[in-house]
Amino acid sequence: EDGITVGELAEMIGQTPANVIKVLFMLGTMVTINSSLTDEQVELICLEYGYEAKKKVVVSEINFEDIEIVDDEADLVGRPPVVTIMGHVDHGKTTLLDYIRKSRVAEGEFGGITQHIGAYQVEVGGKKITFLDTPGHEAFTAMRARGAQLTDIVIIVVAADDGVMPQTKEAVDHALAAGVPIVVAINKIDKEGADPERIKGEMSELGLMPEEWGGDTVYCNISAKKGIGIEELLETLTVVAELADLKANPKRYAYGSVVEGRLDKGRGPVATLLVQNGTLRAGDPIVVGTAFGRVRQMLGDHGKELKEAGPSTPVEITGLNDVPVAGDKFMAFETEKMARHVGEERQKAKQEQDRGVSSAMSLDDLFNQI
Ligand code: GDP
Ligand code: MG
Repeated sequence: EDGITVGELAEMIGQTPANVIKVLFMLGTMVTINSSLTDEQVELICLEYGYEAKKKVVVSEINFEDIEIVDDEADLVGRPPVVTIMGHVDHGKTTLLDYIRKSRVAEGEFGGITQHIGAYQVEVGGKKITFLDTPGHEAFTAMRARGAQLTDIVIIVVAADDGVMPQTKEAVDHALAAGVPIVVAINKIDKEGADPERIKGEMSELGLMPEEWGGDTVYCNISAKKGIGIEELLETLTVVAELADLKANPKRYAYGSVVEGRLDKGRGPVATLLVQNGTLRAGDPIVVGTAFGRVRQMLGDHGKELKEAGPSTPVEITGLNDVPVAGDKFMAFETEKMARHVGEERQKAKQEQDRGVSSAMSLDDLFNQI
């Protein structure tokens, strides 16, 4: 029986067929794009590109969680940071997200439509910052539990008139567990009784010592309601992001995570996606969780139609056959056939998982079906 071809493997691992052919040539084998590969050759190519070529993998995870994609250094370029705001209830997360969005989108722009898609991007001194507009540690934890690490920087909001509360502690724990840089925004400094110094003391006890006290956590005093200190907060984010040296490869097929999914009466399944690597294009065949289809319509955070979206860009897409859930992974493919195949396999695997049947299938089995 015939194994996977050079072209098919190249697509699965997000490489050009020419690259795969080159690797095999270096290994002493001449092949063409339509040549069938032996298991050994598949493994060698996977190794070459930093994939863990596991013999037994769960089909539902093919091209998603199980396989780490290593991009060519030369293809990597800087990408905007993705920021999540967390903190205790009523400390001002929503107010802060709303203030940043409104103050950055010119009035009347895009017909005054400020679409709410669960994420948005702003520009600060020519640099972009992506905000996940889904505050709360529950969403954050749920996504992390699904293996989706979307956030590059966490802002912990603490109300200056209230101080560290249970959810503040939880938020700090989650951010520390995720290993991402933390910026503390001491909010409501406009209020009577606001005491930023006291907050710094309480936060230091959680391990977030302010820079000015010899620690390494940046603090910003803000009023989300009055718009005080927001510029400084945004500038701080760009500095923290620069230090983090965030990179992505816009040349590969897009992959990323679902921020929100919903069913729209007229448009069908609608998903807000965060492109984490690669470039997503209108018309791309795509698998999202266990749903699949083609990107029919792609809207940016301002409701404007986009032809393509690079790393760290939030988009809203239609064209899927089912509604995905937050934290689901997505991946674009070259051919609809491949997207359909992977989508259907993932669907089958999920159904079996739900029934408690082991869905483990060998990589060979999958490759032989393609
Ligand atoms: P969330 O639960 O963290 O999303 O908190 P909200 O953004 O809903 O804010 C809770 C309340 O605090 C609302 O009534 C806000 O108007 C108010 N609030 C938020 N930020 C500030 C601020 O900087 N100053 C003052 N005085 N009130 C604020
Ligand atoms: Mg809120």
